[in-house]
Amino acid sequence: MAQKRLTKKQIKSLAERLSYTPRLVWDVIEEREKKRALAFAEDYKAFLDKAKTEREAVACIREMALAKGFTEEVIRGSRKPMVRSFQEKAVALARPGKAPLDQGLHLIVSHIDAPRLDLKQKPLYEEVDLAFFKTHYYGGIKKYQWLARPLALHGRIVKAGGGSLDIAVGENEGDPVFTVLDLLPHLARKAQYNKKLHEAIEGEKLNLIVGGLPLGDTDTKDRFKLAILQHLHEKYGLTEEDFISAELEVVPAGPARDVGWDRALIGAYGQDDRSCAFASLRALLDIGQPQRSSIVLFVDKEEIGSDGATGAKSKFLEAVVYDLMMALEMEPSARVAYEILTRSRALSADVNGALDPDYQDVHEKRNAARMGYGVCVTKFTGHGGKYETNDASAEYVGWLRRLFNENKVVWQTGELGKVDEGGGGTVAKFLAIYGMEVIDCGPPVLSMHSPFEITHKGDIYMTYKGFRAFLDVNS
Ligand code: MN
Ligand code: MN
Repeated sequence: MAQKRLTKKQIKSLAERLSYTPRLVWDVIEEREKKRALAFAEDYKAFLDKAKTEREAVACIREMALAKGFTEEVIRGSRKPMVRSFQEKAVALARPGKAPLDQGLHLIVSHIDAPRLDLKQKPLYEEVDLAFFKTHYYGGIKKYQWLARPLALHGRIVKAGGGSLDIAVGENEGDPVFTVLDLLPHLARKAQYNKKLHEAIEGEKLNLIVGGLPLGDTDTKDRFKLAILQHLHEKYGLTEEDFISAELEVVPAGPARDVGWDRALIGAYGQDDRSCAFASLRALLDIGQPQRSSIVLFVDKEEIGSDGATGAKSKFLEAVVYDLMMALEMEPSARVAYEILTRSRALSADVNGALDPDYQDVHEKRNAARMGYGVCVTKFTGHGGKYETNDASAEYVGWLRRLFNENKVVWQTGELGKVDEGGGGTVAKFLAIYGMEVIDCGPPVLSMHSPFEITHKGDIYMTYKGFRAFLDVNS
């Protein structure tokens, strides 16, 4: 059979109609929307500065919800938007919708914990006339990234009498900072250079320098340690035993920053996953009453496996569903709650690793997320052979793709790394237990899990726009 000869123009149009070409956010949006995207980045940076720990994130989210008229009371039949926090480390916002609850919910779940160094319970000691705190790292860090840089200390101490104290030291100008020492290169050959990168820095060497002024004279035992205890007692009324009932987190000091001459990017600690936390928070606060009742949930402990009372494996989500049932004058029965969850749609709102310009060979270029190409939809996470993951259904991916296209959300799809290169998980699989539709969705990040993670302002805005479209959809 003879093939009809196509003109150059026809071929071009054919390619446009048939091929899938991801689009750069800045190539798609108009000047007015670009301004909105840049303004959103400013709000986002302010949130990052206020919410450097899960406790601070919960306080900030709760405050923003209360300011928008959300209530902490569960009133039968009230139909009011609600906010409920749990142990100050997890929080949920719930907005009753117009449709009956048994049609299912729209749910967005992000996490508000981030990799860091936690203080041990007996942290304080002295060595070679300097005072230190011992730490135990939390989550997947590359230990060398935490050396020789200014660090801040945030957290809560419960005192002997039961009262508690929140501190955040190292953020304000004039505050002292803390640091973990690194070995000088001149002497690092055997101790570091000849070792594998992940063995070169030992966990027990991640000690925080906290002082160097002695108390008393040379006869005084542990006088550097004692000087710190005296300071902490004068300033906060603390004794050494109080550290045992404390949760103190060592995080990078300083605010979120614009990165680049053109300020295209944001550099900050904790963007995994506070980018999704902020985008989903704002999405729910900015819409009116949605068609489907919506829950935006912020969980803790994702970075260490989602275990514990405030992690995604806990029953907190179910408790929030019961609250919603009460507000909508339903009998809060477990059976009906299960039916509701089974019929729900969820976004596991989490970041994805962006194609790294210097390490492109760990990615599979054709399927990797790219900076600036919008919010990333990830069908499955896990590792080689699709282990330990939810795998979203074709039907659900199809639904979400139509939703994003109809709402002019610039989106892309991304798989984390080459097939057998490594991998990572999210909370998606813990939501899938209920039988709901769930898919991973969030912005790509460079230098993920580092003290200075990088995101693209266009992607952050499209994450917000995508979440908003999801919550506001009429079906
Ligand atoms: Mn994450
Ligand atoms: Mn992570």
